[in-house]
Amino acid sequence: MVMDMRKCIGCDACTVSCKAENNVPLGVFRTWVEKHEGGRFPSIKLAFAPKLCNQCEDPPCVPVCPVDATFKREDGLVLVDYDKCIGCGYCIEACPYGARYFDPIRHVADKCTFCVQRLEQGLAPACVETCVGGARIFGDLNDPDSTVSRIVNTQPVQVLKPDLGTKPQVYYVGLDSMVV
Ligand code: SF4
Ligand code: SF4
Ligand code: SF4
Repeated sequence: MVMDMRKCIGCDACTVSCKAENNVPLGVFRTWVEKHEGGRFPSIKLAFAPKLCNQCEDPPCVPVCPVDATFKREDGLVLVDYDKCIGCGYCIEACPYGARYFDPIRHVADKCTFCVQRLEQGLAPACVETCVGGARIFGDLNDPDSTVSRIVNTQPVQVLKPDLGTKPQVYYVGLDSMVV
């Protein structure tokens, strides 16, 4: 996924559609939009930062799972096998992006799946479909002709916490330096 911060207006339509699509319980989120304020009056600025699971290429949440409930698929998606998850929370602690939460209804760890149930029907993730600013772009990074590949390969892009070596697969264009 690519997030073009030049187009995000901080409306949270993505947050709401994700909740509805994935029946996300009250108080927890699969995606959220951070608002960062900076500068000094009268030169103040406001930066938005939509966040979600980065579907890391080297995800620290996977090796800590004692029952192999969290796994990375061949296509790169990091998913949770809810039948195996024992709700120990190790993966929630291991994620450096705060992308996981404990589902208080099902008593399992959960997070964004890039709406795997929609991908399997050939549909885009709900947050992408709903993004009013066209800031969220989704596609196959293995396809050199995809829009996401073209952006990642031709424009300056950033990922969150690159020093951790997790190799996030969510790329940002124009992310403000206030965002970490
Ligand atoms: Fe795992 Fe967190 Fe990376 Fe998602 S962002 S794959 S939950 S470490
Ligand atoms: Fe939520 Fe789906 Fe977007 Fe992930 S891809 S943040 S699950 S709407
Ligand atoms: Fe930004 Fe799009 Fe989410 Fe609105 S729906 S907050 S424009 S990413």
